[in-house]
Amino acid sequence: MPIAAGRAIPREWAGKYPIIGDIKPEEWDGFHDLVLWDELYRGGAVSSIFVGLTVGAPPIRQFASPALQAKVLPEILSGQKRISLAITEPSAGSDVRNLTTTAEKTADGKHYIVNGEKKWITNGMFSDYFSTAVRTGPPDSGAAGLSFLLIDRHLPGIQCRRIEIGAGKLSSTTYITFEDVKVPADMLIGEEGGGFKFIMSNFNHERLWIAFQALRGARICLEDAFAWAQKRDVFGGKLIEQPVVRHKLGLCGKKVEALQAWVEQIVYELDHLGEKEGNRLLGGTTALLKVEAGMVVKYVADECVKIMGGLGLTKSGQGARIEAISRSVIALIVPGGSEDVMIDLGVREALKLSKLRSGARESRL
Ligand SMILES: Cc1cc2nc3c(=O)[nH]c(=O)nc-3n(C[C@H](O)[C@H](O)[C@H](O)COP(=O)(O)OP(=O)(O)OC[C@H]3O[C@@H](n4cnc5c(N)ncnc54)[C@H](O)[C@@H]3O)c2cc1C
Repeated sequence: MPIAAGRAIPREWAGKYPIIGDIKPEEWDGFHDLVLWDELYRGGAVSSIFVGLTVGAPPIRQFASPALQAKVLPEILSGQKRISLAITEPSAGSDVRNLTTTAEKTADGKHYIVNGEKKWITNGMFSDYFSTAVRTGPPDSGAAGLSFLLIDRHLPGIQCRRIEIGAGKLSSTTYITFEDVKVPADMLIGEEGGGFKFIMSNFNHERLWIAFQALRGARICLEDAFAWAQKRDVFGGKLIEQPVVRHKLGLCGKKVEALQAWVEQIVYELDHLGEKEGNRLLGGTTALLKVEAGMVVKYVADECVKIMGGLGLTKSGQGARIEAISRSVIALIVPGGSEDVMIDLGVREALKLSKLRSGARESRL
């Protein structure tokens, strides 16, 4: 099931890989992607095991050589092998330009020698490949010195250890160490120095997909709290008869419906703009959408925990889904671009587009 397909499935995949619901590649669009992730997240933690594929495979589909694609895509799309995206390091998260993991070409040009560390890598423990951001340029080369390398996890010199986090145990969050790892040069994804561009374009779908999950998380909380408020007897009546409770549910409902409309608007616009224009025009808006989605699910989960009373803290029973979501909202807010950084990015992208537009207007005068 090519979950990594995201908003589009290449036509040449028809008949090659099973596509969920037997949908034809030419019919698959951003709304299929939305529904798929909505349903997976509704299924609870199971969505965690697809994270690596969803964020790690797109760089290969978009930028790898045909030979590398032919080798790796059949393995990872059939589920025979697993993949993760490895960008973040202990000393560089939001500041991607600061990455220090090095990949130095050998004198014969046949290999890269990789040294460094990656942190927070989702699904890392059970991955066979890492789509890895590495520095091929000198230490002070900034964004221009970054490249993308596909690294086989079974090569000598790689160590993985699990990082225990408060939520999403199935995600298998991992710390990876690379020590003199000899990676064949033909595992380079795209051209040397193109890594920063790949990282940024990859983030757009990741942020949208996080918003899909936050939206479903908020809906689940609201659904369970609404049902409970109609059952629970308090002070001689049902909980839902309390105006304060209805007010809470109303405020949550309006936020969820507004988020749904914004998500669908962006999905529609991205489908009609195409990949390149969509990334260029809607990268900033998508960052802001991710922020809003995180804020909505956090707000709704907090309110719903209160409506559930003690059940909102209980890992089993009628409050279990709300308990799990309220504990894991931060895993929707920080990964893929932390809230403060995303707000700033949204404004900087708007500024860039407005300068371009005013430049174009002036040149017409
Ligand atoms: C559960 C989980 C799963 C993850 N999965 C992956 C993965 O699969 N692959 C991967 O590569 N990475 C992954 N990450 C890493 C994730 O993308 C980073 O944690 C995130 O980008 C933030 O980086 P950081 O943790 O280093 O925080 P920092 O960059 O140190 O930032 C900490 C805080 O400082 C503030 N801040 C930083 N810069 C600015 C700024 N310019 N303006 C305003 N405020 C700022 C923000 O509030 C931010 O939250 C994952 C993280 C988590 C928690």
